Amino acid sequence: MIQDVLARPLRNLRLSVTDRCNLRCEYCMPEEEYVWLPREDVLHFEEISRLVDVFLPLGVDKVRLTGGEPLLRRGLPSLVAMLSAKAALTDLAMTTNGILLAGEAEALRAAGLRRITVSLDTLQPDRFKALTRSSELPRVHEGIAAAGRTFPGAVKLDTVVINGVNDDELVPLVEYAKAAGAEIRFIEYMDVGGATRWSADRVFSRAAMLARLAAHYGPIEPIAETSAAPADRFALRDGTVFGIISSTTAPFCRSCDRSRLTADGVWYLCLYAASGVDLRAALRRGAAPHEITALVEHAWRGRADRGAEQRLALGERRAFVPINSLRQDPHLEMHTRGG
Ligand code: SAM
Repeated sequence: MIQDVLARPLRNLRLSVTDRCNLRCEYCMPEEEYVWLPREDVLHFEEISRLVDVFLPLGVDKVRLTGGEPLLRRGLPSLVAMLSAKAALTDLAMTTNGILLAGEAEALRAAGLRRITVSLDTLQPDRFKALTRSSELPRVHEGIAAAGRTFPGAVKLDTVVINGVNDDELVPLVEYAKAAGAEIRFIEYMDVGGATRWSADRVFSRAAMLARLAAHYGPIEPIAETSAAPADRFALRDGTVFGIISSTTAPFCRSCDRSRLTADGVWYLCLYAASGVDLRAALRRGAAPHEITALVEHAWRGRADRGAEQRLALGERRAFVPINSLRQDPHLEMHTRGG
């Protein structure tokens, strides 16, 4: 297993299978128009599989499919089947907005997907519409119900909490997750590329989340863990477990073993990195696997990124990437890098 400059292993690979999305969440894709990746640049499943074969011997053992919305990628269960056949991969998960999940859950399970995370920011239809510009909340509920049946004990819900927007729904969302048999994780609003409406006063901090939940549920116990998972987990008095991902006010760069491959094969070593390694170019020019391995190994051994910590150290913060830069390079977008 290789390590970077800060002794962080290369383990978690997030594969964005498309930059397209069927929602327009206001914290991620709020603009009217987007510049999409050229279709011919998008990796074929065989190409993704070949790149994963490069990553596995270097230490990657967890892969998460994401996007954009991964279920917009036609034939996704075929990719899942190709990946799940790789013995070195111990974990294969997917993050989805849930709209298309009910129709796909069985096929994904049969193909070897192990875990599902569904993004759900509100239980209120009007608010959902305002946040996502979509009326598909009922289908998201159907997707979560299907996930609960098909992946029992392996479903998570992710909620981005925005101050003054949905911070009043923490308790209803905990109750909803409990009833759905899912573990919920509350995510601080991040100033990543694409979050053009981000401002510091819209962040609802981990401390504020804990205070809000404690006011309703009573004492909350932190769960001691040693994993590099992004969420800190907590238990309520009745044993209900939830997580908080505090990338904005308490980043965890020191244990970050995650990297991201875009749908067009550019590999990013940090969500906040200005540039990535173009593995598609290497693949399509016919580089041998050992040459691509050398590229990946060299980049990871030189990795010193601590993007979220550096953003925090700035003190005065505004949206990370200006809209004009996003238009010039869609790779700077969260929906291209995969959240
Ligand atoms: N379409 C899928 C989904 O909705 O989950 C996968 C891609 S989405 C970019 C992955 C995750 O990134 C979602 O949970 C989303 O809420 C999160 N995300 C996007 N923008 C964010 C932001 N500004 N701050 C925090 N989380 C964000």
